Amino acid sequence: MRTNVKHIELECINCHTRIQLNRAVSGSCPACGETILEARYELGKINVHDWMSALKQRRPNLWRYHEVLPIFDTDNIISMGEGGTPLVKSRTLAANLGLKHLYIKDERQGPTGSFKDRQATVAISALHEMGVEELVVASTGNVAIAYAAYCARAGIKLWAFFPSLAPVEKLREAALYGAEIIQIAGNYDQTKELAARFAQSKGVFLDRGIKSVAAIEAMKTMAYEIGEQLGRELEGNERWRAPDWFIQAVSGGMGPIGVGKGFREMYDFGMIDSMPALGVIQSTGCAPMVEAFSRGQRVATPIEHPTSVIVTLSTGNPGRSYELLYDYVSDYGGHFISASDEEAFSATLVLARNDGMSVEPATGVTFAGLFKMVQQGVIKPDDVVVVNLSGHTMPVETQILGQRWLRSVDIPEHEEQASVVPEEGLVSALEQMDSHSHVRRVAIVEDNVDAARLIARIIQARGNYDVQLAHDGASGIQLIRSTKPDLVILDLMMPDIDGFTVIDTMKADPALANIPIVVVTAKELTARERARLGTQVNMLLQKGSFIDEDFITGLVSELD
Ligand SMILES: *Cc1c(COP(=O)(O)O)cnc(C)c1O
Ligand SMILES: [Zn+2]
Repeated sequence: MRTNVKHIELECINCHTRIQLNRAVSGSCPACGETILEARYELGKINVHDWMSALKQRRPNLWRYHEVLPIFDTDNIISMGEGGTPLVKSRTLAANLGLKHLYIKDERQGPTGSFKDRQATVAISALHEMGVEELVVASTGNVAIAYAAYCARAGIKLWAFFPSLAPVEKLREAALYGAEIIQIAGNYDQTKELAARFAQSKGVFLDRGIKSVAAIEAMKTMAYEIGEQLGRELEGNERWRAPDWFIQAVSGGMGPIGVGKGFREMYDFGMIDSMPALGVIQSTGCAPMVEAFSRGQRVATPIEHPTSVIVTLSTGNPGRSYELLYDYVSDYGGHFISASDEEAFSATLVLARNDGMSVEPATGVTFAGLFKMVQQGVIKPDDVVVVNLSGHTMPVETQILGQRWLRSVDIPEHEEQASVVPEEGLVSALEQMDSHSHVRRVAIVEDNVDAARLIARIIQARGNYDVQLAHDGASGIQLIRSTKPDLVILDLMMPDIDGFTVIDTMKADPALANIPIVVVTAKELTARERARLGTQVNMLLQKGSFIDEDFITGLVSELD
């Protein structure tokens, strides 16, 4: 379907020159060089009232607003049903804060679990429409994950650059979708710089983040949804409604900038009667906007070395973004405030235990900031407040719950073992032996090649060990004789010469008898076998069947 997009223009936010939106737009103003251009839509051709009622029939995803999104042909949309997230009314937390109208925009419910799915669907659809086939992005995690998923659908090759502090779980998820993962030993600002250099030298399209039209336009869809949802909640569906506050923790500030633009558009179209104030929260360890605001300055001084562990919010140099937010707050009200990592972690627990929603640390910062603004009386009890619940939990546990959240229970021996390769057991065995006698050389005798490699990786991840593999009992004995390892990791069930025989052979040879042995076996041992192992081995670890990483990688490369 072709949409009527002839009415889209770009406007320079500095000199207000208008430029036709077309495939050749280079991204800066031809008159003054300004890098931020805003999309302008003339809804004059559409009757706004008719549009608002037509919307009621459309599906609840963000493309329902395609008339105000920068795409020429809706056939080019790459979508997984993103947007249309619930606006959940808070009960317990609101009551505890003394707020009558606290609403939580649950962006965890996007396809990859954060509000970056909005940016991904709009940006990747636009790039797909332009014929871009390869893309570079710098990200602290969520943009890369969302882009990786949408690029997979669009058939676009993605190069994702991450700063060193980005949680490895996020890198892995982006890798799962087939992105090339590059981790930079530096902070987020340095990562962006390197990604830009890489893109330039390879001649690959670089995602311009906050300076791209698609990003701002994507984020503004939150405003349209909130307006429509609050209208249903508070105005009985008759009119749309802006909240008194939109609250979000920021890094570059794309979310509130886009949302602010969305509300201004709706206001100009006559869809709402008021504009929300913006509550902009930063992490105390990286709060250039908050610091500038408290000094009354419109230009922020960059933070060279962010100290927060919450890497999602680690833009040290906000550049023009802060000016845009500052101007918005001067025009329509708002507040900049920071919260420490500890305050964010404890706010995360409060939210989870009051309202049953678990969020990632960056969103914890949002709620910590909300608590402060309520305590300080900046937000009033009657205010209608919408909070952007920007991202899901992962990988929060290690930071928030600490060590003592789990009780583990041993299963009686005869019951089935469901576990995979016993990584923790292996690591603690290694550490134990390492503390007794210095372990450098490890021999793994295991006929399952994948299991052997996995064990080798687990061990090598713990330090600089010299690991040798043998895949049957006979070559295992040879290997042990020739290398005299400090530790043998042994499978029991091998064809021809099995693990029991390897043990017997070692114990019979004075030169090998004292080498510690860790047995890793998938086999349920009989009483006799247990007795036979007796005190000959230092540790016995059970492994279950495991999903094999190499097997899957092999499959994928065969499909290529
Ligand atoms: C990107 C991100 C933020 C910060 O968003 P900006 O508006 O770009 O500053 C906050 N929370 C989560 C979960 C994010 O992924
Ligand atoms: Zn200009």
